[in-house]
Amino acid sequence: MQRIIWALFIILLSATVNGQIKRLDTEHFQANYEVEAEKYVLASLEVLELARNLAISAGYDLPDKLQFSVIRSERNVLYFDRKKLNGITWEYNSLENLLPPAESRKKNVYGLCHEIGHLCMYRITNNKNNWMSYDYRESWADFFGNFLIDSVFQYMGTDFWPEPHDYSESAGMDFFLQRIENDNPKLQSFNKSALFWYELNLNLGFRNIPGFFEEIKKRRVRNPDANQKFLDVLEEYIGEDDLSVWFNEYADYLILDK
Ligand SMILES: [Zn+2]
Repeated sequence: MQRIIWALFIILLSATVNGQIKRLDTEHFQANYEVEAEKYVLASLEVLELARNLAISAGYDLPDKLQFSVIRSERNVLYFDRKKLNGITWEYNSLENLLPPAESRKKNVYGLCHEIGHLCMYRITNNKNNWMSYDYRESWADFFGNFLIDSVFQYMGTDFWPEPHDYSESAGMDFFLQRIENDNPKLQSFNKSALFWYELNLNLGFRNIPGFFEEIKKRRVRNPDANQKFLDVLEEYIGEDDLSVWFNEYADYLILDK
C-alpha cells in the first residue's frame, strides 16, 4: 500500500532543474540534489517518508515539510540540521558511497533512519542539554534507526534501492542486539547506552518515549544534578519507586553530571 501511494505521488511531484542541482517536492520533503544522484535520492525519499510517518504515528513532532539535501563535496557524511532541526543533508564525494554496504561500507538506509531519530529527540529536548553524553545522543539515534529498519524492511522490502540489497543484515533489532552481545570493548560505552534505550523501550513501549522526552523537558532535567533529575523523571514516568539500581548501570555512560 505504501508503495502504491508513493507511485501515485511521484506523478504529482514538481521538479525544476537548476544547473546540476534539482529540486523536487514530495509530500513531506523538499529535496535539493545533484542530478547524478537522482535514483538514490528517490530511493532515500521513500525511506524518509516512511520513517517520518512512523515517527509521527509514534507521537513525535516533525515539521510538515523537511529539507533533504544531497550534495557532492570533499567528504561523505550524513547529518541533520542541528540549528533549525528541519532537515537532513547528505554530502558524498563519489557515487560509490551511495552503493549498498557491501560495496560502499556505508549503511545508508539505516543512516537515514538514524538522522530522523536525532531530529525526533532534539525537537523535544533541545535546551540546556549539555548533560547528555555523546553516547546518550548517538546511541539514541542508533536505537531509533535500528528499530525503524525492521518496519522499513517490512513495508518496503529490498527492491527500492537502485541496487537491491538486504540492508537488514547490517541493521535492525537483531543486528543491534547481536552487536551488544558481541561485547566489543571499544564499543562498551556506546553499547551500554544503547542497551539503556532498548530497555526503556521494553518498559515503556515505543509510543511512550516521546512522552518521556516531554517530561525531561518539562521537569527541566539539566545540571547541576542532571543525573538525579533524570532518575526522578524515569521513576515517575515508569511508575516504580526505586529504579536507581537499574539506572546506575547506565548513568555514567549517559549523563555528564557536573
Ligand atoms: Zn548520529
